[in-house]
Amino acid sequence: MTDENPADVLERGATTDERDFEAALRPRRLAEFVGQRPIVHNLDVYLAAAKQRNEPLDHILFSGMPGLGKTTLAQLIAVEMGSHMHGTSGPVLERAGDLVGILTNLKRGDVLFVDEIHRLPAPVEEYLYSAMEDFHVDIQIDKGPAARSVRIDIQRFTLVGATTREGLLSSPFRARFGVTERLDPYEAADIRKIVERSAGLLKTEIDAAALELVSSRARGTPRVANRILRRLRDVAQVRARGKITESVAREGLLMLGIDEYGLTEMDRRILRCLADQGGPAGLRTVAVAVGEEEDTIEDAYEPHLIREGLIQVTPRGRKLTEKGKKLAK
Ligand code: ADP
Repeated sequence: MTDENPADVLERGATTDERDFEAALRPRRLAEFVGQRPIVHNLDVYLAAAKQRNEPLDHILFSGMPGLGKTTLAQLIAVEMGSHMHGTSGPVLERAGDLVGILTNLKRGDVLFVDEIHRLPAPVEEYLYSAMEDFHVDIQIDKGPAARSVRIDIQRFTLVGATTREGLLSSPFRARFGVTERLDPYEAADIRKIVERSAGLLKTEIDAAALELVSSRARGTPRVANRILRRLRDVAQVRARGKITESVAREGLLMLGIDEYGLTEMDRRILRCLADQGGPAGLRTVAVAVGEEEDTIEDAYEPHLIREGLIQVTPRGRKLTEKGKKLAK
């Protein structure tokens, strides 16, 4: 058993252990990537065309909720191009200077993956423009009156940006991506395939009823499905000689605090907070009441609550729907 709290099935790669686990389950080739057929089809075409022309792929922006496969696709693009992926993220790149080393080290055709790209500070974003368009960077040397800038050419690379909030990207930035793809939650059948595949990789047996149960509670998100599976594997080991049966799945889901709607403890706290408010409540009020960051609530929790028809986001704030009111009781 891990020592993390139950609500963490929605958290992003919280621990090194969690990240290693995710890496072990990542599809190794694009053909192994389950679901998101239109996106995979488009990528196949772009990759084939780029390879034929012997050119790197256009810059790509992936948007969609956490855990849907944006990082995985960036890695697969590098694999299919026979190049390498260098990963970083918006909040890590605080100054334009943080990018220089990364950009000048890229080899032709490499993928630079920038997660949470909507959180890049504006000066860093603007610094990227010339790198993306003309493949050069300007480097400041010296300070004061002797300061001057030197232009350095960099190798043609592919920037793959991932965002949970495409709307927060400035339009000049967005316009610099040749391709924009939006990942939506997976169909139930695809999530089932992902759970089956992951169980196979983990050498864990899972029966049909348990498979159905896990798939129906994973909010259409591979990361959530894999994390549930991981916890159930622990329960199975202790209770059922390693096999995930329906009763193992029920017990494990209960331990994780995931209910029949796929709601976690944090989702239920959000619903209860809105019920207590009685009317529309601002995001900040909800964040303070439930003890979670505003961004996380918007990115990881609300999309599912909205899709399930439990809350509505109105200009005056968040509020419960009739269905939400019943559940919050
Ligand atoms: P994101 O970058 O969108 O937050 P990731 O690419 O990190 O999501 O994916 C989260 C986890 O889900 C990874 O372990 C990955 O292996 C798995 N995963 C995502 N999409 C798929 C897919 N289509 N098929 C199989 N596994 C997937």
